[in-house]
Amino acid sequence: MGLAHWLPTLVTAVVGAGAALVGWRRGALTSGGALAALAIGLATLAFGGVAWAIVLLAVFASASILSRAGRTAKAARQLAKGARRDAVQVVANTGWGALLAVMSFWPPTPALFAAFVGTMAAVAADTWATEIGTLAGGMPRLITTGRKVPPGTSGAVSLLGTGASAFAGLTIGTVAAASVAGWPPDASIILRWAGLGLGAGVLGSLADSFLGASVQAMYYCPACDKLTEQRRHSCGSACRLVKGRPWLDNDAVNALTSVVGSIVGLLMWVWT
Ligand SMILES: [Zn+2]
Repeated sequence: MGLAHWLPTLVTAVVGAGAALVGWRRGALTSGGALAALAIGLATLAFGGVAWAIVLLAVFASASILSRAGRTAKAARQLAKGARRDAVQVVANTGWGALLAVMSFWPPTPALFAAFVGTMAAVAADTWATEIGTLAGGMPRLITTGRKVPPGTSGAVSLLGTGASAFAGLTIGTVAAASVAGWPPDASIILRWAGLGLGAGVLGSLADSFLGASVQAMYYCPACDKLTEQRRHSCGSACRLVKGRPWLDNDAVNALTSVVGSIVGLLMWVWT
C-alpha cells in the first residue's frame, strides 16, 4: 500500500495534533487535557479509522470554539467554572468513544460506529447546551422539580439549551454522514445519520440534566455560604455534602451521559 492509501490517515493525525495544540495554546485545555485529547484522538484514528477521527474532531473543535466565544460573557457573570478542560474531563467525555473504536478494530462492526456517533452527539449536545444556555442568561429550571436556578447549575434545562442540544446532534450526525459517504452524501444517508445524532444528542443531554439534578453530588461551602459541585471549594474550605452520591461528580455524570448516547445511537441504527 502506497502513500496515497495512508494520506487521509496522515492528514487527519496532523490536523488532530494541531487542534490539540491550538486548544492548549488558547487555554481551552490544560497541558494534561491536551495530551489526553491527543491520546484519545490517535487511538480513535488508529483503531476506528479516519471517519471516526473526523467525528471526534468535530466535537473537540465545536467545543473549543463555543467555549472561546462565550468566555467574555461568562467571565462578566463570573460563571467561568473549570474554563480549561483537564485530562479527567477529557477522558470522562470521550474515553468511552475511544473504547468503542478499540472494540470495533476486529471485527469491524458498523453498529459500533453508530454507537460512537451517538456518544459523540451526546457529548457535543451537552457542551453546546451548557455554553449556549449559559451565554443566553435568563433563569433555567431544574429538570426534576421545575424550580428556577442560576445558569450553569447541574441539572438545569432551558428551551434554548435544549435547542442547542438538538442542533449539536444534527451537526455531528451530518458530519458522520459526510465522513462515511463523502460530500455531498445521499439525502437518505444524511437523514439517517442526522436523525441518529438528533436522538442521541437530545436524549443524552436530558439524561445528563436528569442525573445532574438527582444523583450528582452537591456540596455546601460554609465559609462562602454557597452551593458548589466541588468537595473542596475554590476558596480552600472543605465543603459538606448536601445532596447526591459523593462518588458521582460531574465527570462521572458526563461519562454516564456518553454511554447513554451510545445506547441511543445503537438502538436508532437497528431501528431506522
Ligand atoms: Zn468557599
